[in-house]
Amino acid sequence: MKIFDLIVIGAGRGSNLAVKAAKLGKKVAIIEKDKLGGTCPNRGCVPSKLLIGYANKIREIKSSKKHYINSYIDTIDKEKIFEDTNDYIDSVESFYEKKFNENVTVYKGEASFIENKIIQINEDKITAENIVISTGSRPAEPLTKESWTSDDIFPLEKIPKSITIVGAGFIACELANFFDAIEVKTIQLVRGETLLENEDKDIQEIFKNEYTKNVDVRFNSSIKEAKQKEDYFDIELEDGNFIQTQALLYAIGRVSNADTLNLENTDIKLTKRGFIKRDEFFQTDVKGVYVVGDASGENMLQHAAAYEVNYLFKILFEEENKPLKFKYMPHAVFSNPEVASVGFTEQKAKELNLNYVISTTSWKASAKAKSLKIDYPKTKFILNPYTYEILGCHLIGFESATIIHQVLAIMHIENDIRHLKDMLYIHPALSEVLLPAAVNAVKVIEEYKKSQES
Ligand SMILES: Cc1cc2nc3c(=O)[nH]c(=O)nc-3n(C[C@H](O)[C@H](O)[C@H](O)COP(=O)(O)OP(=O)(O)OC[C@H]3O[C@@H](n4cnc5c(N)ncnc54)[C@H](O)[C@@H]3O)c2cc1C
Repeated sequence: MKIFDLIVIGAGRGSNLAVKAAKLGKKVAIIEKDKLGGTCPNRGCVPSKLLIGYANKIREIKSSKKHYINSYIDTIDKEKIFEDTNDYIDSVESFYEKKFNENVTVYKGEASFIENKIIQINEDKITAENIVISTGSRPAEPLTKESWTSDDIFPLEKIPKSITIVGAGFIACELANFFDAIEVKTIQLVRGETLLENEDKDIQEIFKNEYTKNVDVRFNSSIKEAKQKEDYFDIELEDGNFIQTQALLYAIGRVSNADTLNLENTDIKLTKRGFIKRDEFFQTDVKGVYVVGDASGENMLQHAAAYEVNYLFKILFEEENKPLKFKYMPHAVFSNPEVASVGFTEQKAKELNLNYVISTTSWKASAKAKSLKIDYPKTKFILNPYTYEILGCHLIGFESATIIHQVLAIMHIENDIRHLKDMLYIHPALSEVLLPAAVNAVKVIEEYKKSQES
């Protein structure tokens, strides 16, 4: 049996832990069954955002009439778009390989547990004082054979003439926006009436209104039967309609990879959804075995996984003894329009019976926003009227994911909406949209307080 100081299973964000521990001189084993780097750079955040760059540019050109510019797109070189994106993906493995020093042993293969702290990898049995499970998640199985998930489209090989995307979440809305923008005939099938159901309901509504101006979304639609023909799918929908499509992509959620680990040989417990249970120090039910990132099923975002990995490094090697509890978890949807959000949605605040007030402002007062000639962007705050605390903030509009960082900074340092009202903004930077939003939010709180006094 080989003995290491640290074993990391899954070389997504977990690879950073291996790199940092090895720099300290620890003997580290990292096990990866697919590509080093994991989901984010190979088949997730990065390639999907590279595609959004093309989509945004195309949408901008197509909407140039608003700026009194008559323009048309001559050709979209889809081959080149795919090639460029694949060039990036091809560079990922060697980039990660180079990060590991001589203290790291990289095992390529699927790891499984033989007992609590013994791992089988290929022909080897290995153990370590600390074992970290960072096995991520994978797309839920597509319901039709030969169809795709987000894992199958990266690297991009086949440019379809038409694509049908099943799903209503952020992955479906980012990919459908891309394919539609590059003029692949795109249909999105959504089981209910809602897109982005985790967003605040007002944001959902604006998103739906704007997004469906471009993408052909069929609501209340699900597939009854999909027959694969030579080069296309014949799809019969439950409502009796038919679709013919060359590619069929399911983006219907993500599931745990815990089933690959033979955890039945250990005392490690799973959550109801099949992800790995842990405490606030990331420890599973087995002492010295930890879980970080998507494998816990908790946040399922790259920045959460990266933060957890860095924090676990401190716990393991820098005597950090405070538990990690995220006070808030921001996220964004890089589609068209762009959405960014942190904290509670209004529906969640209601469900939790919180005392809250709402302030919603448009971006119209901003000269920079005006220059974009789009009138839907909004900022919505959900606030505690007694403490001025920001309970939730939701933005929809150009560069929302960038603008929300000001709100995050305030929430991180001292969560009080008045700081956002009192700070100095560069006029007329786009982020200045938060000034009238904060002024209004404070006004709403003060009016609420007055109404409570009378
Ligand atoms: C299309 C798409 C777009 C996304 N966009 C964003 C975004 O914009 N912003 C954002 O924050 N997040 C985004 N995400 C989510 C983000 O990619 C994940 O949250 C993040 O990659 C999780 O990192 P991780 O290290 O936990 O898991 P992963 O990166 O999935 O790494 C886990 C690794 O473990 C390996 N593995 C699994 N089981 C075993 C085993 N038994 N033995 C050995 N190896 C194993 C896997 O092969 C994988 O490489 C996106 C995801 C997708 C699919």
